[in-house]
Amino acid sequence: MFGKDYMLDALEAISKDIIEHEEELNHLDNLIGDGDHGTNMARFARIILRDLPGLAASKDNMGEILQHVGMRCITEIGGSAGPVFGKFYLQAGMLKIDNLDMEEANLVAAFEEGAMGVAHIGRSTEGEKTMLDALFPAVRAMEQALEEGNSFPEILLAGIEAAKAGVEYTKTIQASKGRAAYIGERSIGHQDPGATTVMLMLQSMYRVAAARNAEQD
Ligand code: ADP
Ligand code: MG
Repeated sequence: MFGKDYMLDALEAISKDIIEHEEELNHLDNLIGDGDHGTNMARFARIILRDLPGLAASKDNMGEILQHVGMRCITEIGGSAGPVFGKFYLQAGMLKIDNLDMEEANLVAAFEEGAMGVAHIGRSTEGEKTMLDALFPAVRAMEQALEEGNSFPEILLAGIEAAKAGVEYTKTIQASKGRAAYIGERSIGHQDPGATTVMLMLQSMYRVAAARNAEQD
């Protein structure tokens, strides 16, 4: 049900949604950074959209697909977003998820691995006004939703709610990592662009998952 096709469709949706939000993400980054987060992520998204047909034809393991995406992000996108978002995909792809079936538990484990990878490479943790303020709460909410026996889309929905709250939380705190840390207290009051991208990614994944479930019902 949630196999390679889902993964490819989700990557397509994520890429298109990021491109659609390019200006908004640039605007958010303009307020606390250098205004390029949308440009960086949209560049990555356009590369992935170009790569997807090749990935569909050549790769049979979902982990390998995610690792390809991660490597593209790291090698093609500069700044801090390239390494941190790249590491997310790379590390999530360490779980060699079989082509045929991604179970609910694999989904949550991939997010958990990815989040830990980001924290490691970014030398960052929650409360520093970064993407991790959306990602870690989302992982915890998804773990709980999994334990409660929820379906694949429901788990993603729980992740979205937590990520949204995390994005709101970034408005209240001062940045201590990334470019926004340079402006100190003046970063308070603005939401973190990277955390916003994490929320968008979860929303894209949910939309594709929910449409699939509806088709199957
Ligand atoms: P740059 O900061 O190089 O201009 P972007 O603007 O594309 O790169 O990305 C900025 C985003 O990257 C931030 O909003 C934040 O979420 C994320 N980020 C920056 N540094 C770190 C870090 N050390 N750990 C985790 N995320 C980070
Ligand atoms: Mg920037």
